[in-house]
Amino acid sequence: MRFWGVRGSIPAPGPATKRYGGNTPCVEVRCGDELLIFDLGSGARGLGDALVATRKPVKASIFISHYHYDHLQGLPFFSPMFSPANDVTLYGSPRDGKSLKQILAGQMVHPYFPVTAEEVFRTRLAYRDVVVGEDIPVGKATVRTLELNHPGGNVGYRVDFGGRSLVYATDVEHGTALDAKLFDFARGADALIYDSMYTEDEYRGRTGWGHSTWEAAVRAADASEVKQLVLFHHDPGRDDAAMDKLLREVRKQRKDSIAAKEAMVIQL
Ligand SMILES: [Zn+2]
Ligand SMILES: [Zn+2]
Repeated sequence: MRFWGVRGSIPAPGPATKRYGGNTPCVEVRCGDELLIFDLGSGARGLGDALVATRKPVKASIFISHYHYDHLQGLPFFSPMFSPANDVTLYGSPRDGKSLKQILAGQMVHPYFPVTAEEVFRTRLAYRDVVVGEDIPVGKATVRTLELNHPGGNVGYRVDFGGRSLVYATDVEHGTALDAKLFDFARGADALIYDSMYTEDEYRGRTGWGHSTWEAAVRAADASEVKQLVLFHHDPGRDDAAMDKLLREVRKQRKDSIAAKEAMVIQL
């Protein structure tokens, strides 16, 4: 897997975040010939351009966790959408009585955006409403789904392929009965990508905002007995030096933990 965006809430570009990166969530996962993408935050622009630069037709399965801007703002700029040679399947949960297609179309309308999806997307495009809890086969990989605790709802995804597994659990607030479900869902995974936006101190003023802490990330990784914890959805205000410091704290408790960085590749 390769990280194209690791930041939470809003892009945070600039010299102070150069090493970890300022783009919002987008993760590329390769399972044999299959390309899976998790979220289309601002990092999706770079991924899309890299895919188009290969000059090969793109076939992608894109899993959207939820529809907050930071997970979707890259969609209108994901360049494989503009060529009829490509095949894109979008997966996401219906919310508030609206299908995935209706929700995504609602992002690209006046007065928020100059052109509609219908006007500009030329790829062979399929929308798949996810029934949370279902397993979705993608080639030889299986993508499992779980509802996470986040305002407005959010889907956690687990990919199993060739005896390896990873869990994408961003935008999750700890401290409810759903925690135990997530621990079971993530049980034994090779990597757990987890929302570690806050420290416990920061979290105290932000309960109910839908995010977790690095301390809860460590507890989740321990409880689910995953091999590697990957900190994710970094606070936009946490610069590279502060990220290094946070990671040092985490490593006192789980030695081989990592903090997701843009362009970082992890082979499971
Ligand atoms: Zn987010
Ligand atoms: Zn969110």
